[in-house]
Amino acid sequence: MVEKTDKHLTQLSSVIIEELKGLATAGKELNSDSLMQRLSKRSTVQALLQNNRSTSETKFEKEVRSKDDRQGLEKKLEKTLEQKERLLKQISQLENQTSQANDFYNHSINTLIDLFPTEENKPLSESLTSIRRLAKRNAPINDLEKAFSHLKNTAFKLELRDSTPDRKQSKGLAKISFWNKKELEPASEGEFENTYLERVKNIYREIIRELTLHLDADSVQKLTKIDHQIKAIDSLDALLSVRNKILALLQHYITRISEEREEAATFIREIGERLLQLESHMLESLLLARESRQADTEFAVDLENQLNQFRGSVDFSQSLSELKATVISSINSIQKVVENKRQRDMDFAREADEQMGLLHEDLDSMKNEIATAQERARQLEQELLMDPLTGVFNRRAYDRRIKEELQRYQRYKHAFSVLLFDVDHFKKINDKYGHAVGDRCLKEIVKRIASVLRETDFLARYGGEEFIVLLPETASQGALQVAEKLRKVIMNMEFIHKKDIINVTISLGVTEVISSDRRPGAIFNRMDQAMYQAKNAGRNRVEIQ
Ligand code: GH3
Ligand code: MG
Ligand code: MG
Repeated sequence: MVEKTDKHLTQLSSVIIEELKGLATAGKELNSDSLMQRLSKRSTVQALLQNNRSTSETKFEKEVRSKDDRQGLEKKLEKTLEQKERLLKQISQLENQTSQANDFYNHSINTLIDLFPTEENKPLSESLTSIRRLAKRNAPINDLEKAFSHLKNTAFKLELRDSTPDRKQSKGLAKISFWNKKELEPASEGEFENTYLERVKNIYREIIRELTLHLDADSVQKLTKIDHQIKAIDSLDALLSVRNKILALLQHYITRISEEREEAATFIREIGERLLQLESHMLESLLLARESRQADTEFAVDLENQLNQFRGSVDFSQSLSELKATVISSINSIQKVVENKRQRDMDFAREADEQMGLLHEDLDSMKNEIATAQERARQLEQELLMDPLTGVFNRRAYDRRIKEELQRYQRYKHAFSVLLFDVDHFKKINDKYGHAVGDRCLKEIVKRIASVLRETDFLARYGGEEFIVLLPETASQGALQVAEKLRKVIMNMEFIHKKDIINVTISLGVTEVISSDRRPGAIFNRMDQAMYQAKNAGRNRVEIQ
């Protein structure tokens, strides 16, 4: 039962609130009289009151039987009374608020209206006066809304008319305005549409003029055509079709630009590939030409990386200027790589030159060393073949030379002879004057002998005070003459030591080489025998075998 009473109260409360809102919306004064007046018209309230009354009576008869129920009902009644008090308070508050709000709106609207300069514009002035009137008589919200909407439209038209910026100060598309201040404002809706059309046409023509400054010749030609069409347009629908043409033209232009960019990108990519090929060929020849294979491989890798980067950049480039920058930057990078390579080659070549220089130096010093060694060897050989005291050939030299001459003789059969001479009683000189004087005497003998002989003759000290002379191209008779000449030279020589004149003689044995001479010993034996014959025959003589 209590629940039902609550339900009725809730319904009643919502009806009261609803009516209060209605009063506020209608701008009516909010008090209990006006509320009751409105509530009395609501059939729902009457039904609720009736229902509540009959239900209460029925329930009351039942409730008297239960004391507890009666007490509960009393409590509920108290609560309801409290609720009613609260509601009345709320209503009173709402009345105050609404009254204050009304005062505020009236005051504000009037202030705002006073702020508008209404003299210059008749429609605006009329619109504002209408709002002021409605505000003063607390007109319903709907009426105010309508009045404000009218004011908004009037103000918008006015704003458009006055919003023309200074053309000289504007740039690009910003200078295009919708309205021209100098032109008259539209008087009626029809005129307004015509004027609007003109304005839009002007905007389009301004856009076209602006585009001609930026687009290519082909697009400009098309734009000029569209401009003529716009000039002849007399309806907004036709204008829309032209607008689509402009948009299509722009779309076409943008597409073509991107196609051109694609072509440029492909072209540049091809350049990159050709560069790569070129560099590969160059690299191959370099690899063949250069020993520095390691450096060349690094170079190849560097170059390949550069070109790959370049390819990548081309793929991702968005504009021609970017592509241009990419190409320039890539070429610079490649140039750097090539320059590095060139520098490395130059370094390598310089190092190679230095190495070569060092090698040449080594070679030169080696040549000198070899020459020195050869000279030393020659000297050693000379020393080996020469007699240190007299400076003529020694016995070893004779042994070698006689072999050669014998071989030559056996081949060519050219006559040649040999002679052997020995200083007579040389022992006595040594004994009388000393060994050193003996040496000097030997030297002097050799000197005199050598002065008589030909250059082609060969003089050797065979040992002690014995000497042999080889006489090429000389037969026995010639050999005998030479021997005699030598004997006389020495015989006539005056070897002076201190105040003494030392007389020296030599004994000589001569022999001509014969075809039966197979060994040098055979020759030596004959001349030795001949020499001893001379000794035996008294010395200072020449004998032949
Ligand atoms: P003959 O007429 O028989 O040849 O008498 P000879 O004194 O020359 O004979 P012999 O062959 O016996 O003596 C040779 C001497 O020559 C002995 C040696 O002292 C001397 N003699 C050999 N070689 C040299 C030398 O190089 N210097 C000097 N000073 N004397 C030498
Ligand atoms: Mg002797
Ligand atoms: Mg002697």
